[in-house]
Amino acid sequence: STIDVEPPKPTVDKFLGGLLSPNFDEASCLSRYQSALFWKSSNHTPSPYLLQRLRSYESLHKKCAPNTELYNKSIEQLRSNHSTGPLECNYVVWMASDGLGNRMISLTSAFLYALLNNKVLLVDLPEDMKGLFCEPFPDTTWVLPSVDFPIKNLKSVWAFEKDPYRYGDMLKNKVLSTDLSTSNASLPAYLYLHLIHANDDFDKMFYCEDDQILLQKFPWLLLRSNQYFVPALFLIPEFEKELNLLFPERTSIFHLLGRYLFHPSNSVWGYITRYYEAYLANAKERLGMQIRILGNVDFAKHASYIINCALSSKLLPDVDLKDSAPSNLTEVKPKAVLVTSLNSGYFERLRDMYYEHATTTGDVIGVYQPSHEEEQHTEKLNHNMKALAEIYLLSLSDALITSRFSTFGYVAQGFGGLRPWLLVRPDAKNVCLHSVTMEPCFHFPPSYDCKARRKADLATLAPFLGHCEDFPNGIKLF
Ligand code: GDP
Repeated sequence: STIDVEPPKPTVDKFLGGLLSPNFDEASCLSRYQSALFWKSSNHTPSPYLLQRLRSYESLHKKCAPNTELYNKSIEQLRSNHSTGPLECNYVVWMASDGLGNRMISLTSAFLYALLNNKVLLVDLPEDMKGLFCEPFPDTTWVLPSVDFPIKNLKSVWAFEKDPYRYGDMLKNKVLSTDLSTSNASLPAYLYLHLIHANDDFDKMFYCEDDQILLQKFPWLLLRSNQYFVPALFLIPEFEKELNLLFPERTSIFHLLGRYLFHPSNSVWGYITRYYEAYLANAKERLGMQIRILGNVDFAKHASYIINCALSSKLLPDVDLKDSAPSNLTEVKPKAVLVTSLNSGYFERLRDMYYEHATTTGDVIGVYQPSHEEEQHTEKLNHNMKALAEIYLLSLSDALITSRFSTFGYVAQGFGGLRPWLLVRPDAKNVCLHSVTMEPCFHFPPSYDCKARRKADLATLAPFLGHCEDFPNGIKLF
């Protein structure tokens, strides 16, 4: 008789190439160190310099964390109603806007911005995000204690659009200028940076170097964004050199920072691991399909378009419409397709196709969809938990098909380190495009060349910038 010897398990690097600090309690956040068991190991290694900067950021954060002495000092200054220049601890407060994908890409941008400025990132956590993520920095918190915070109504987008310290408005009204003669005595206690898609050209002056020099004087910057604004930071000379040191591989920024920052809470990790083990773990290959419908589309045409994309890209096998006699299928491992969508129509269409017909390759295809919430409900925690779980499950695929213009898909591809096949042109048959990178797109970038002081297409200002494949007005890193 033979003795079954379990092959030794390959050792997994649970710290993701040094990206994750070892100083966390494992049980309080199982996903943090278990993710490495589920993700394919990344060939995008973080640079030693990034690791060094993350570790020093972590100590700075701990030193300046809410309710420390230094934090209280900075809060006191905020109460005093004017800034006297930078303090020992200076902050970027991130405020949410829109769905989870938008939040995650903008939060990542805000973190990088804080890192570049030696500021501390605090998060004004909405109720509907409480319990989604673990703390990203060891022995401290990134949650802004909003109860004692001197500035109220942080949640109200509307109130802040009219905030007297909205940076763009202050420039427009000439209350503030990047003129170096601006004396510290006249600086307000904080600035509100309105960086959501619908801001104006004055708000967008944020992306210019002179403005960045002025912003350094403020210990408190409140920042609301739903954009991945990292590409524009490369055009600010002050940051460019540092960014190149941090990220020798420009197109892995979101991949690395996303994996560094976002760790599903234990409850969300339960959703992910239960679903994965039940439906996906046993498959020989996994294809993720993220279907996000924006505007009116003809279902039948759109479903054919998506299926054609999968077939023509050889991500799924054709079906044999002649219904030949079944081949011997015992012990054939299935290929799994994970569909995520707010509706179930596309999933049903694909499942039926492989139920009713054999494949030409002899493969069997399992089609799964964890939820169909019908409508976006970003204000509900439970809805966001499913969204996060599904983003994560998509990232565990071997290949991805994603919808154009969707930040939900961007996060999945970044987590997974995958270049997706993009459903770019639902009007044209068979056109889906294999994305050149896994980086998210900055949908609504500024259109101003700060150096030349005139309107410009930012995609033309640096060789490593270009228009997004799925949204030509946007820019991304290549
Ligand atoms: P975007 O609007 O596609 O850029 O992505 P966002 O994540 O910012 O906003 C869409 C929101 O709709 C998500 O956060 C979810 O709340 C919901 N949603 C959209 N597609 C899906 C899906 O496939 N599954 C789940 N569970 N929720 C989805």
